[in-house]
Amino acid sequence: MRHLIILFLLFFSFVCVADQSSLINSKASDAPLNVILMIGDGMGRVQRDAATRFYLHQPAKLVMDRLPIQTQIKTDSLDGVTDSAASATAFATGIKTHNHVIGLDKEGKPRKNLTELAKEKFMSVGLVTTTQIAHATPAAFVAHVKHRKQMTTIAEQLSASDVDVLLGGGENDFLPKRESGRYEKPGHRNDARNLINTFKQKSFVYVSNKVELEKVDETKVNKLIGLFADKGMDVPHSPNLKLMTEKALAILSKNKNGFFLMAEGGQIDWAAHQNNAKQAMENTYHFDLAVGLARTFVEDNPNTLLIVTADHETGGMRVDEDEIETLKNAVEFIDKQGKSFYVSWSTKGHTGVPVPLSAMGKGAEYFSSVNDNTHVFSVIRDLWGFK
Ligand SMILES: [Zn+2]
Repeated sequence: MRHLIILFLLFFSFVCVADQSSLINSKASDAPLNVILMIGDGMGRVQRDAATRFYLHQPAKLVMDRLPIQTQIKTDSLDGVTDSAASATAFATGIKTHNHVIGLDKEGKPRKNLTELAKEKFMSVGLVTTTQIAHATPAAFVAHVKHRKQMTTIAEQLSASDVDVLLGGGENDFLPKRESGRYEKPGHRNDARNLINTFKQKSFVYVSNKVELEKVDETKVNKLIGLFADKGMDVPHSPNLKLMTEKALAILSKNKNGFFLMAEGGQIDWAAHQNNAKQAMENTYHFDLAVGLARTFVEDNPNTLLIVTADHETGGMRVDEDEIETLKNAVEFIDKQGKSFYVSWSTKGHTGVPVPLSAMGKGAEYFSSVNDNTHVFSVIRDLWGFK
């Protein structure tokens, strides 16, 4: 009997330890060399479906809807319906925190993020977005601040980080008030620092338009910062997310230790906040073109994990095939077959519905069931061999 009790205690303690450490029984050979995380900000199931109707001859599907793994993640923060800061913090650090918070737990303590883990493995890291590069989603992969609005502090933390490629908008977060870089508006910084010069001193190449980005010779450039607007990038985005992702992949993939790339279609959310269905569909479709490029990269480099998801849904977007009398704000669109469909919205804010997660490549099988957004961090951390 005593043996049985000891055996039971041993088993119980093993279960407890296993539960506290890694989610998956990963071996070194399970680790993908590269990880690409693509986030469509505000992109729920219906944003994907509406873009499919508007842009594709059905039964064609978006690239992201054709990836082999299709599941959902739950997005709530500690405050209920999440904002981008808390959800990006969940992706980047594996914890639930309060809205507006970047990279800190509920006690305000900094949490190690995927960029910091990747750098411990001597990997390259890139952040790409169509919003400001110091905006909530990219910020959470580097910064630790109490409020997402501290964008000049986030810019400072970006400039002090080891990130290798930064592409997006938001030049004015990097410039002092008395300077107006390549755009008309002066900078936002209260200090006198020009952080673009800080990047240049760290051997970064600086570009600020599509032509300059296209001319970047990825065989020679290892560190690149591109700021293509003073704030968020103008629509239509120039350069578009696909080109920015392509350049980032070309530079990052030179590292034999692999890379981590976060690429965000950041303005799907902005269009949905305005209940602008046409813009939300267009931004979703352009995000999918970048996903197509990433998929080709994974096909050519099967040692790569690609995850495509969203931080939350925005707008409570709804699609109907018939005009419903009660939906006063429904707008009619014509699909590629020439049939009408109607888009309506339930809010100008975020909703708490689960969002799609699609994945392919090495380790994608760990996303085969519905989970919290923190699971994205946990899987990558475990595959990389951190406990
Ligand atoms: Zn968001």
